[in-house]
Amino acid sequence: MIKFLDLQKINLVHQQEIEEKLLHVFRSGWYLLGNEVKDFETNLANYIGSPNAIGVANGLDALRLIFRAYLELGHLRVGDEVIVPANTYIASILAITDNRLKPVFAEPNINNYNFDIAKIEGVITPKTKAIMVVHLYGQVCWSEELETLAKKHNLKIIEDNAQAIGAEWKGIKTGNLGDAAGFSFYPGKNLGALGDGGAVTCKDALVAKTIRALANYGSEEKYVNKYQGLNSRLDEIQAAVLDVKLKYIDADNDKRRKVAEKYIAEIHNPKVTLPLLRSDPKEHVWHLFVIRIENRERLQKYLDENGVQTLIHYPIPPHKQKAYHYYNHLSFPITEKIHEVILSLPISPVMEIEEVETIISLLNNY
Ligand SMILES: *Cc1c(COP(=O)(O)O)cnc(C)c1O
Repeated sequence: MIKFLDLQKINLVHQQEIEEKLLHVFRSGWYLLGNEVKDFETNLANYIGSPNAIGVANGLDALRLIFRAYLELGHLRVGDEVIVPANTYIASILAITDNRLKPVFAEPNINNYNFDIAKIEGVITPKTKAIMVVHLYGQVCWSEELETLAKKHNLKIIEDNAQAIGAEWKGIKTGNLGDAAGFSFYPGKNLGALGDGGAVTCKDALVAKTIRALANYGSEEKYVNKYQGLNSRLDEIQAAVLDVKLKYIDADNDKRRKVAEKYIAEIHNPKVTLPLLRSDPKEHVWHLFVIRIENRERLQKYLDENGVQTLIHYPIPPHKQKAYHYYNHLSFPITEKIHEVILSLPISPVMEIEEVETIISLLNNY
């Protein structure tokens, strides 16, 4: 069986280093808000090139806390509109609605699954105060036009960087392109913890300070509560593991690129639409390798019968989910089409070349 993602194998590569760190934290007697988190935050901030990084409990909280901070600081008000791609993972939308802000969905480009920056201007209203870009599947969503548009309309840009740690646009890392960014360290992400974890990077020191307080009961000083905050902290044990794995993220992303490049060079089946290579390979870290095919269930079954696990990211777009029943009437034809025909093939830094070749020949014989 070729697993969609072999997490055990991914983490066993660093077994000795991780086990030493786990033991160290276990024996230290200090499990929250300590040196492991501090070190990881420093190293993450340096890696991204951002002046501020704050460890939090998960990726959804990272995004929620960014909006919460903007509300507390008066940059946003309840009811303001946030433009967001219609084909994103539900967490991007939950972060907006949880703060009583209004998501305004924008259609993606079917060729790269990121939203069409040219289409954004058409949905801007006087209530629009922010754009959430999602570097979906690990691919940078950014352009000079986007920067110009945000400046012209005085919009904050929040990056959902859950899938794209390590990606770069013109020498700038995702997470340092917009005003603030949310990261997820869910085990299956390119930088994965042994459980949940997340982080925020942001340019503004006051926003960083506010998020740090909000994530710790709204408190800057113990038992003094400035905000009605939440409890959303990164565990010392997760920070320790992440700090080990952060050192290898560039090498891991390069291995993912090798797999993606091989798929693209060698899969020749007219039924299959492959993702496009970027002219600058740094703009994609291949969190997912997503193809399009009509009757995808048939291909999925064929691959499964031949020992290859695949997944769908994602089968139902947020506006068609029951949780958002009041958006169910909206129509986004490109988004809806994408959700019907996409299929994610296995990709990871620990895939063997023979596994990649098996998948390629299965697809070519399909
Ligand atoms: C994983 C993910 C999130 C949420 O991260 P969690 O750590 O699972 O809360 C948000 N947005 C996108 C695009 C994701 O892929």
